[in-house]
Amino acid sequence: RIAAVDGAVGAFLDVDAEKALADADAADAARREADAAGEQVPELTGVPTAVKDLIVTHGQVTTAASRILEGWVPPYDATLVKNLRAAHLPILGKTNLDEFAMGGSTEHSAFGRTANPWDLERIPGGSSGGSAAAVGAFEAPVAVGTDTGGSIRQPAAVTGTVGVKPTYGTVSRFGVIAMASSLDTPGPMARTVLDTALLHDVIASYDPLDSTSLPDAPRGMAEVVRAAQAGADLSGLRVGVIAELDGGEGYQSGVVDSFHAALELLQEAGAAVETVSLPHLEYALDAYYLIMPAEASSNLARYDGMRYGLRVEPAEGPVTAETVMSATRGAGFGDEVKRRIILGTHVLSAGYYDAYYGSAQKVRTLVQRDFAAAWQQADVLVSPTAPVTAYRFGEKDDPLAMYKLDVTTIPANLAGVPAMSLPSGLSDGLPVGFQILAPQRADDRLYRVGAVLEQ
Ligand code: GLN
Repeated sequence: RIAAVDGAVGAFLDVDAEKALADADAADAARREADAAGEQVPELTGVPTAVKDLIVTHGQVTTAASRILEGWVPPYDATLVKNLRAAHLPILGKTNLDEFAMGGSTEHSAFGRTANPWDLERIPGGSSGGSAAAVGAFEAPVAVGTDTGGSIRQPAAVTGTVGVKPTYGTVSRFGVIAMASSLDTPGPMARTVLDTALLHDVIASYDPLDSTSLPDAPRGMAEVVRAAQAGADLSGLRVGVIAELDGGEGYQSGVVDSFHAALELLQEAGAAVETVSLPHLEYALDAYYLIMPAEASSNLARYDGMRYGLRVEPAEGPVTAETVMSATRGAGFGDEVKRRIILGTHVLSAGYYDAYYGSAQKVRTLVQRDFAAAWQQADVLVSPTAPVTAYRFGEKDDPLAMYKLDVTTIPANLAGVPAMSLPSGLSDGLPVGFQILAPQRADDRLYRVGAVLEQ
């Protein structure tokens, strides 16, 4: 399937078919061995997966879609990759993304764009656009993405697939190339809520190598989905529609209509739907675009031309640590990455720290308090996943226009709460995503509501 369609879709940066086939044989052997011993293997054993190229894989090139890491072969596996290997999910290859996960369209990859399988002239979302397109184009049944400000949920929404950002700390960040460490959240992507849950259960683990890993993150999501599918009943569940994200300026009318149609389905299933206000969401986007570049500028300082990947010496003048660093970073980073490093460095600088970074952190706390108050009124919160469907390549050339589309997904990252996007229908022939948010560690609620809504 990859050979047949990926020339047009461009979901993968690297495919290792031989290794995947060998892994598939190993999966068969593991299954036979377990059968003989009367034991069970994980349900996804032998099911191939795609992995976002922000996640390091031992012996297989990992680039973060950046020239600065071109050709870099990691000497170790990310913890979540170890989990995939332990459960015998063959890794088909590494998927495209916006460089260092900065973007919402996968147009900002140093190695070419990925197309939306629904319309090859449109973006697949981002930054996990390669993983979403691979799943949407039936090139992989499941895929792993990362979500710092919406990068799993928004591409899932615009490709008609399912994506989950688990509670922060559920899936280890060890071996996930850092963008903004306090927001980065790896998670599962698939075509159904059940497949997403099965992958969630494989990649989630407590990891002492990640200082923010949760020892008690919830598991058993597949069981939750099966129980919800059998019952198909949401009686007693309080669903809060986020007032600040329920349409208005910048929202496509077809997206809002699809969202409201899904709310009716929830009511039919017995849920009580009311509107809940989170007043500080008005400032969430601004806070995110200060905190994220601040953390990213610090994390990306490690690409100094000495440790990994690209090294460029200055065309003229002395070769010193500083000139090599400057030449390497100048040549190795793309425009969007440079923009964020400059912005982040600025807001962290002595004269501006309190005004920008300090204020943004205060807003983050206010957003977290809004969520805490909202959970008194609702068991889950809902909104459209993205204000618009997949747009045409080049349509959002202005960085601010692209940033603004993240308004619906960013609040979950600032608060560290889990969130799911699943398809709620079409608008002008393009998929629309429905977003469900739950309190920290209550990921099971996403899967329960998602499973019923999907039916
Ligand atoms: N679109 C957002 C950004 O550009 C989110 C990125 C992400 O989640 N990795 O920052």
